[in-house]
Amino acid sequence: MKRGFQNGLLGLSSLNIKIFLTTKRWNKKYPFNFRICSLKQVHGNKIIEFKKEDKFFKKEGDGLFTKEKGIVLEVKTADCFPVFIFNENLIMLLHVGWRGAKKGIVEKGIDIFKKVGNLKNVKIFIGSGIRKCCYEVKEDVAKFFKKSIEERNGKIYLDLEKFIIDNFLNAGLHEKNIFTLPHCTSCRNDIFYSHRKGDKGRIRAWILKE
Ligand SMILES: [Zn+2]
Repeated sequence: MKRGFQNGLLGLSSLNIKIFLTTKRWNKKYPFNFRICSLKQVHGNKIIEFKKEDKFFKKEGDGLFTKEKGIVLEVKTADCFPVFIFNENLIMLLHVGWRGAKKGIVEKGIDIFKKVGNLKNVKIFIGSGIRKCCYEVKEDVAKFFKKSIEERNGKIYLDLEKFIIDNFLNAGLHEKNIFTLPHCTSCRNDIFYSHRKGDKGRIRAWILKE
């Protein structure tokens, strides 16, 4: 995957797929001329298919996918993880926080991906979210993520990124096809929006097929 940083946008490309994440330095110029499909995000596990002829009123859900070229899928995050799943046929984008993860949105995404397309040559890209360095949680949340918890100085930290990656490994995807970013949204609050740091803004995550 090719990566680059321009006009406050982090961009990645692989085959005919383009991925973007906005940062606080984004100059509000869109890097495409296509319509954006967005969701009313509710921290659930509903994943919706979009087609060009659809009326793009805001549906409720936390994941979206399409087989079509020239439409942009969007989720908005600040500490939650934008998770991109794609191959040459199908692109999918999920909004994954602990609530959606607990409700199985990642497994559900993989199941739909298998059903609608196939897992051949699938790549995963996980955008920036809050990482285990900063993601302190209480027992009420930690109890759902027993294998992705770290305890330090009497506090509990959730490694949600590891939890997401484990879902893909369990589904049989290969580690070499899973890509992540080194930035934690809380540590790197200078460039990324962080809900826990009090930001009102959101990272806009986009994927499109050309
Ligand atoms: Zn951090």
